[in-house]
Amino acid sequence: MRPDDPVLSVVVPMYDEEEVLPIFFERMRPLLDGLGISYELLVVDDGSRDGTATLLMAAAEDWLQLRVVRLLRNSGHQAAQSAGFRRARGEYVVTIDADLQDPPEVIADFLKAARDEDVDVVYGVRSDRSSDSWPKRTTARLYYRLMCRLVGKQIPFDAGDFRLVSRRVVDAVNALPEDGRVFRLVIPWLGFPSAEVPYVRAERAAGTTKYNLSKMLRLAFDSVTAFSAAPLRLATWLGLLGGAMSALFVVGALIIKLTGRSIPGWTSTVLAVSVIGAIQLLCLGLLGEYVARLFQSSQRRPQFLVGYDSLDDSGHHTFTEGND
Ligand code: UDP
Ligand code: MG
Repeated sequence: MRPDDPVLSVVVPMYDEEEVLPIFFERMRPLLDGLGISYELLVVDDGSRDGTATLLMAAAEDWLQLRVVRLLRNSGHQAAQSAGFRRARGEYVVTIDADLQDPPEVIADFLKAARDEDVDVVYGVRSDRSSDSWPKRTTARLYYRLMCRLVGKQIPFDAGDFRLVSRRVVDAVNALPEDGRVFRLVIPWLGFPSAEVPYVRAERAAGTTKYNLSKMLRLAFDSVTAFSAAPLRLATWLGLLGGAMSALFVVGALIIKLTGRSIPGWTSTVLAVSVIGAIQLLCLGLLGEYVARLFQSSQRRPQFLVGYDSLDDSGHHTFTEGND
């Protein structure tokens, strides 16, 4: 820790959030100023294409603690968090969404819990999800059920990415070699002592969700493939099942042939072809997920590139930070 490092870093990944930004600042500033500790509000602009960047720069002019890190292109919520974790200097790091669904007032409770209970992680746990739409609630429930199964029991149910971690956790996460880390799984998996603070999740204050279906599916795939070879095993089981079924088909065909009732049975042929074909495709798809992961990590491509950090006032486009 250097002497001028703040006690608290608040990391906010942002993608096209111009609508919510004014409300966000209005609510955040008095709150952070009122905490009575040194802080930095580290906004990771995840390649926004709207006015987010302009609004951020304007706000940073008279708000010293506002630090802007801009990624060159949209790299996704988790990659933006990785960038935030790399760059944050605080002794404690809080991650929070820009849309004010997670009430920033809870940050004070996080800090209190971390200090009083002497823990390294404080999870914000949604005690009420009624503000989320029905499909969101259902998919979220499915996701957490599955993840508890895969990672083990220690995943706090309904904890998203609103949490506080200590410097020890930040360093541990940054030291992980893996790409495409899913923070809400990796952090519980690390196993630092933790506490939970319940909070009520609000409606999005302005703008629309930046998590489209493809981003949600990406998160689900990354979550599963990062933690479990179970799908691969499922492929094996399906393959065995397919093998057994085709064996039955062969025996059946032989019996029909031997009893002399052999009509060239196209029904069984079509069945066999379609069933086995479907199973093979499914297995190939599952294998593909893992091969893709191996492929990506063997490439060692940077997950994000930092184009600008308002802390380095040496000018624009310092292309640093190859890997996350
Ligand atoms: N976000 C991001 N990059 C993306 C998508 C989302 O940085 O590619 C940010 C977004 O600006 C917000 C947070 O991630 O601060 C959560 O996104 P959102 O609120 O749209 O997701 P939801 O609450 O609908 O799941
Ligand atoms: Mg949201």
